[in-house]
Amino acid sequence: MKKISVVLVVILVAFSFFLPVCEIKAKTMQDLYNQLDNLKKKKQAAENGAKLSEEQIKQINSDIVVINQNIDKAGKEIIAAEDKIEKTEIEIKEKEEEIKKIMNYVQVSNGESAYLEYVYGAKDFSDFIYRAAVAEQMVNYNKELVQEFNDLIISLEKKKVDLAKKQKNLEAQKVTLGEKIDTLRTQAADYEEEGATVEDEIKMLQTSINYYKGLNCKPNQDLSTCDKVAYADGWVYPLKRGMVTSNYGSRWGTVHRGIDLAGVPAGTPIYPAAPGRVAASIYSVSGGNMVYIYHTVNGKKYTTIYMHMSVRKVSAGQTVGINTVIGTVGNTGNSQGAHLHFTMASGWEVAGYHAYTFNPRNLIKFPPEYGGWFSR
Ligand SMILES: [Zn+2]
Repeated sequence: MKKISVVLVVILVAFSFFLPVCEIKAKTMQDLYNQLDNLKKKKQAAENGAKLSEEQIKQINSDIVVINQNIDKAGKEIIAAEDKIEKTEIEIKEKEEEIKKIMNYVQVSNGESAYLEYVYGAKDFSDFIYRAAVAEQMVNYNKELVQEFNDLIISLEKKKVDLAKKQKNLEAQKVTLGEKIDTLRTQAADYEEEGATVEDEIKMLQTSINYYKGLNCKPNQDLSTCDKVAYADGWVYPLKRGMVTSNYGSRWGTVHRGIDLAGVPAGTPIYPAAPGRVAASIYSVSGGNMVYIYHTVNGKKYTTIYMHMSVRKVSAGQTVGINTVIGTVGNTGNSQGAHLHFTMASGWEVAGYHAYTFNPRNLIKFPPEYGGWFSR
């Protein structure tokens, strides 16, 4: 039953990788709903993947328990074999000792019959012959026993070697399974991370949907016709003063899709870079407290994004001017130190804005890296 459910999950996971994920820019509410459906499927796939990995880890762990029991058992059998060898060696010595005694007895009695009579009390010569014959039989019998004991030791030694080999194989199996668990743990962590990312995307998309719902957009109406964001003809700094601490572009092997602004204490007010309407005001694992604003500047649509705020002071749907405090500089989400991660994207996009970001320097004249400005 367990096996079957695991197989089912495998099929589900494998299948979900082939589900088409909608990456097209949303034009209508219906597009947004479709995107949401796809993200939910993606999230389910990640959850199934994580569950499957955990299931496999559990199974391997129980296999390891059995292997440990077998290693233990082999160890005990080795000790038992060693004990038996030791005991048999003692028995061999005893038998050899006995043989010696009997041989001595026979030799002594052959040499000096009077001594024999005296020591062992044979009544006469025929009694002596009889006793000598018995002695010889006993010697032969003991010799056979010694041979049997020696054979037993050989087979025990062989058993010991086999058991040691078995133990070594089991240990090797354990190592392999341990490595497999490590791989599965990484896999599970990857799935969980993916799940968290998708969850963030779902949150963003949901806010987009709520935003357009609030504007009474019809399912098939072009989204750009249901919103009228104030027109502006220029951009301003999102902070009254500050400093650029990290530029937009390649950084530490990835692309830093924004410009980092700092040099001001946490709690410093953040303003929109142009008038617009708040598209989303959310908390995300990576961005922390973040606000998205839609703008129309010089006839073109843009989205500006503000991350890592200590607090957010606006909500989705709200109209904002360049002097509206939308939040304050902070260190929330994936951030090291209080700063504003500011980015711009073309079009109106919350979920999937990543594909449309560009260097804010294209539109706003920020000072060079580590350079500051002191007024807006
Ligand atoms: Zn940044």
